[in-house]
Amino acid sequence: MPRELLIQVAPEVAANLTLLNEHLAKLMHVKTAEIQHVAILKRSIDARQRAVKINLKVNVFFQGESFEESKIELPDYKNVANAQEVIVVGAGPAGLFAALQLIELGVKPIVIERGKDVRGRRRDLKAINRDGIVNEDSNYCFGEGGAGTYSDGKLYTRSKKRGDVDRILALLVAFGATPEIMVEAHPHIGTNKLPQIIQDIREKIIECGGQVLFETRVTDILIKDREIQGVITQNGDVIEAKKIILATGHSARDIFELLDKKKVLIEAKPFALGVRAEHPQSLIDTIQYSCDFRGEFLPPAPYSIVKQVNGRGMYSFCMCPGGVIAPCATSPGEVVTNGWSPSKRDQATANSGIVVELKLEDFKPFAKFGALAGMEFQKAIEQKAWHLAGETQKVPAQRMVDFTQSKVSSDIPKTSYVPGTTSVELGQVFPAFLTQIMREGFVQFGKSMRGYYTNDAILHAPESRTSSPVRIPRDNATLEHLEIKGLYPCGEGAGYAGGIISAAIDGEKCAIKCVETMK
Ligand code: FAD
Repeated sequence: MPRELLIQVAPEVAANLTLLNEHLAKLMHVKTAEIQHVAILKRSIDARQRAVKINLKVNVFFQGESFEESKIELPDYKNVANAQEVIVVGAGPAGLFAALQLIELGVKPIVIERGKDVRGRRRDLKAINRDGIVNEDSNYCFGEGGAGTYSDGKLYTRSKKRGDVDRILALLVAFGATPEIMVEAHPHIGTNKLPQIIQDIREKIIECGGQVLFETRVTDILIKDREIQGVITQNGDVIEAKKIILATGHSARDIFELLDKKKVLIEAKPFALGVRAEHPQSLIDTIQYSCDFRGEFLPPAPYSIVKQVNGRGMYSFCMCPGGVIAPCATSPGEVVTNGWSPSKRDQATANSGIVVELKLEDFKPFAKFGALAGMEFQKAIEQKAWHLAGETQKVPAQRMVDFTQSKVSSDIPKTSYVPGTTSVELGQVFPAFLTQIMREGFVQFGKSMRGYYTNDAILHAPESRTSSPVRIPRDNATLEHLEIKGLYPCGEGAGYAGGIISAAIDGEKCAIKCVETMK
């Protein structure tokens, strides 16, 4: 039997198997030669003390003990070409994992995606970055893999159901992600590696007899006597099915408008909104690791911070160490920020959304839009930012200390946001209550993280697509829409997920519930 141990070691020991073996041998009072193999089960960084340590959970195998490298394999997917059909709208993590689960259960998914495949999508990302041209169907939010494809690919979630999380991580490994994601406490994949994994998932769906339709936008949902009949696409094509898993993400405003127009029950949902802050990564490393230089054995440091300001939470969101700020608008006439990073997180800057929780009462000025009030609040800020920054994909930007002192920054250095920035007093972008909270909040952040509150940090506005501004309500047990039979609101856009992993888990759950009613 291998011996399971929890140990804490210096980063250089964790990074070197010989040193690790020596450390373990000493700890267990054995000779290094007696250790046959060390399997690392979990790894996390403990940066609470001055000398940063690595926590490891290991299995030590002694000579003569048998061990097998565990190999993660794909489930036994069936051929579903002639099986009953379910429409899955949206090929984000929720839609793709719903489709895989349907196949596992012997049902044929027809995945309908407005955007292009991962390769075609790249050209449109170039166009928004270089020329400020926003393709309303193909951008950082829309296209194969959804909003998660060209992201940081952080794979952690607040979900307490470890089994669900591990199942998704294992599937990602089986589709080509590094097995390290099963070990790291805060795993991530990176923008350079995600597209291939997504493409392999799509190829598997097609190989098993599922269908994936790109550049096909759903423009109407057919409902008769409160039961789903199918969808209509932008070309007027009708695709019939009695079940739809609707996984269109938090940015599909036309879908929210369509449901509202068709009097399908939807609700306004609070979300969070603010700015994306960019610091030099070396500064964040110094703060988080209490050192002058990070050295070669520690990864670029992440951070996570939350404060209560005027009774509201202000917190970091989707922090990207060694990352880049991306233009994430989905329509012309608006600017939106978010962040991504390559797998090595080797860019010189660290960025994070810094957002304030909103309440339904904040949407009162937009009350005439009913369930779409939050969405209109969000849209108005994105459009204002676009206007203030010069009506291109440039974003309004301000140095952090200048922002807290309502002072227009005299210059903005080049940041990682490729379309560029315009110096704007960010108080003009947001309602007064939000500006006031953020001004106070940044000063407070500086007290917890010494060095964080600095004019070397550049704020980009707005960070507005943190979660869906609308909920599509569903029954807790059946996951079916409260009023429409056969409609399964799914993933982040419906208000049941926040992030890649939780969206994928929700996709699987909806698929399981959907199939239960088909037997
Ligand atoms: P989405 O991924 O939004 O997918 C919805 C899909 O539906 C899209 O592909 C869209 O094109 C399609 N669609 C919309 N309307 C229609 C229609 N009418 N017809 C057909 N198709 C339609 N999360 C993390 O966990 N970790 C991260 O590091 C991370 N980084 C991010 C970085 C960026 C730049 C962005 C934009 C997001 C990031 N996120 C991250 C958030 C994460 O991507 C989302 O939470 C997740 O993708 C939600 O999954 P989903 O399937 O519910 O929706």
